[in-house]
Amino acid sequence: MFNITAIPAFEDNYIWAIHHDNQAVVVDPGDAMPVLAFLAARNLTLNAILCTHRHHDHIGGIAQLRAVYNVPVYGRRHEKNPHITDDLREGAQLRLDAFNLTFNIMEIPGHLDDHLAFYAGSTTPPILFCGDVLFGAGCGRSFEGTVAQLHHSLQRLAALPVTTLAYCAHEYTASNLRFAAVCEPGNTAMQQRILSTAQLRAAHLPSVPFTLALELATNPFMRCTESEIIHVLQQRGLEDTSELAVFTALRKWRDKF
Ligand SMILES: [Zn+2]
Repeated sequence: MFNITAIPAFEDNYIWAIHHDNQAVVVDPGDAMPVLAFLAARNLTLNAILCTHRHHDHIGGIAQLRAVYNVPVYGRRHEKNPHITDDLREGAQLRLDAFNLTFNIMEIPGHLDDHLAFYAGSTTPPILFCGDVLFGAGCGRSFEGTVAQLHHSLQRLAALPVTTLAYCAHEYTASNLRFAAVCEPGNTAMQQRILSTAQLRAAHLPSVPFTLALELATNPFMRCTESEIIHVLQQRGLEDTSELAVFTALRKWRDKF
């Protein structure tokens, strides 16, 4: 058994802590200070660091944490990320004995080339750390690689069990839902999510994690074959209605929304 707790950082980042007894693992520590404060307050020792990708708001605290706790850093090695001690690739497994937890590693490029997802399918429910590829009701921007890669990565996440709890790295859900509602105004599940997200945020609670079932019902980037979304995009000039063209049009529109 273990708990997963959000450590808020910067404006809207979540550094996720997996913890049990006095052991903790953190995911994407962009800032060391809130992590050190969290560990001290709960009398926890850092056991390992997981890294989904090399953006500074995900790796900026690693050096300072490792000056205190000389722990392994699991992620995808990249010339611009000097922190990774244990290189992980597609299909690898990462075993965390302290938590009786095994992650399957998925390479999910499209936001950055080195982006990994950590998926544990044997827990109930399954859990997924998806960094900046999947957000609540949205997805990450395409900074490297292609939009087609990003689409493929999201489709792979969408194929995981619908009960999977997804822990993304930013509190973007409410903002994403404002865009999603314009893409698909007739989606009642989305209207419900707008209300429930507003309630959570008003209570200063994270809207993360969320189930993949909720994403499949409300995330336009996972609903590119929905006729209402296609119709809205056609009214904006879309001609090619293939799934990838719809996804690409959504991503481009969202970039300027
Ligand atoms: Zn990022």
